[in-house]
Parts: sequence; C-alpha cells; structure tokens
Amino acid sequence: MTLGTNKTQELRRKAAKLNEQFAGLNARQILSRVINGGVAGRAAVLSSFGAEAAVLLKLVAEKNPATPVVFLDTRKHFPETLAYVENLTDALGLTTLVRARPSYGQLAVSDPDGNRHATDPDRCCYARKTLPMISTLRNFDCVLTGRKRHQTDDRAQMDVVEVQESWLSINPLADWSLDEVRAYAREMALPAHPLVSQGFQSIGCQPCTQPSEDYRAGRWAGSDKTECGIHITKDGKVRRIGANTNG
Ligand code: SF4
Repeated sequence: MTLGTNKTQELRRKAAKLNEQFAGLNARQILSRVINGGVAGRAAVLSSFGAEAAVLLKLVAEKNPATPVVFLDTRKHFPETLAYVENLTDALGLTTLVRARPSYGQLAVSDPDGNRHATDPDRCCYARKTLPMISTLRNFDCVLTGRKRHQTDDRAQMDVVEVQESWLSINPLADWSLDEVRAYAREMALPAHPLVSQGFQSIGCQPCTQPSEDYRAGRWAGSDKTECGIHITKDGKVRRIGANTNG
C-alpha cells in the first residue's frame, strides 16, 4: 500500500508531536494516554506471544482489558506458543484477541511446499507476517509494540512513536532493559512462555528459532537476518525485504 504524501506528512507531524508529549513519561503513563486518553486514535497492541510478551500485555490489561490484541499467526509457530496465546490472554483477562494469518490461498502461491523459510526467509516473512499484518493493522490508528532499543542494532535509535504504513507504531517499553523486563515479570508473577524453561530466550516461528544462551542468537541462527521484515525503517517505511520497498 502506498500512502499519499499528505497522509504521510500528517502522520509524521503527529508522531513528532507525540514524541514531545511522551518525553520523560514512563510506560504506564504513555499507555494511559494512548489507551485511556485516545491521544493517537484507535489503538491495538501487537504481540508475538514470545518470551517477553507478558510484560506489555499485563500493562495494557491494567489500562483496558478490551484493547484489541493482534497476534501474527504465521502458521509456523510452536504448539507451545499457540497454547500460550490462550493461557496468557485468559490469565490477564484480555478479551479481544485478533489473529492475523496468511490465507491458505496466499500460501499456496507464495509457499506451496511450506519450506520457503529454508530457501528464502525474507520472502517467507513477507508472506506470513508482513502482508497479514498490514491487512489487519490498517484498521487502527496506532499500534502498541513491545520493541526495545536493546534488542538489535536496528532498534537502538528508535523513537517511542514511529510512522508505519498508515498507522503510528508506539513503543512504550523502548528504554526497558532485559533485566528490567525479567524483574517486572517476576514481580508480577506473570505466566512464562513454556519454552523459556527449555533454554529459548527469544521465541518466533518454530523452523527459525532454537535454544540459545545468547539473546537473539537463537533467531535465524547462521544468518545475518535480525528482523522479520515487519517493522519500520527510520524513513517511516515498512521493511519489506525481498519485495517492493516503496510502501
Ligand atoms: S520467522 Fe521463519 S517461518 Fe516465520 S515467517 Fe519468517 S522465515 Fe517464515
């Protein structure tokens, strides 16, 4: 989808204004303004239901448990992740789960033998994550994410509020360290993803995730790929590796 220049400029102005408003605020204060105050319009939260997902979902549930929670179901997740989606939303009292999935018709064209992850992971992510995500999130004005600056080099400089396609991406946990995330999860006794106890530190699709002592080294091991192709670049475009990048 290509946004008009005026719409893109309007979103960028709005993001800049919100970044000013959110400067110095903590995650709960930002979530209050977004979820309860509606300062960025219709809000959803995007969750991977991975190893750290419970923290943002707990904070969101405290503000409004009916906030739509979008789960990108690539149809390649671990069975443990699919069970965790159900268990965690129940435990937190979240009432509006939205599954964004690639259709079987789309997959018959883009990944007919189900092995695209091995031959072209960027195109696999594009078909299984990017396209379903855009189709679902275009219905919202802003999307809350659990992205943090410590996670990858690409994220080190990210703003709390960014422009992505036709919506704002809001990262209230941007400055949380891994230790802070884990300490909060312990303090709140949040249900852990069942694979964490088996040595998984960052959990995505089953074919592309393995146990690792090093954070993130367990994702796309053996390649330099660090992002799914579903997040944005500094110029406000969705990163669509292996596809048209003009948004
Ligand atoms: S993480 Fe792996 S299986 Fe999942 S969409 Fe990307 S390449 Fe495909």
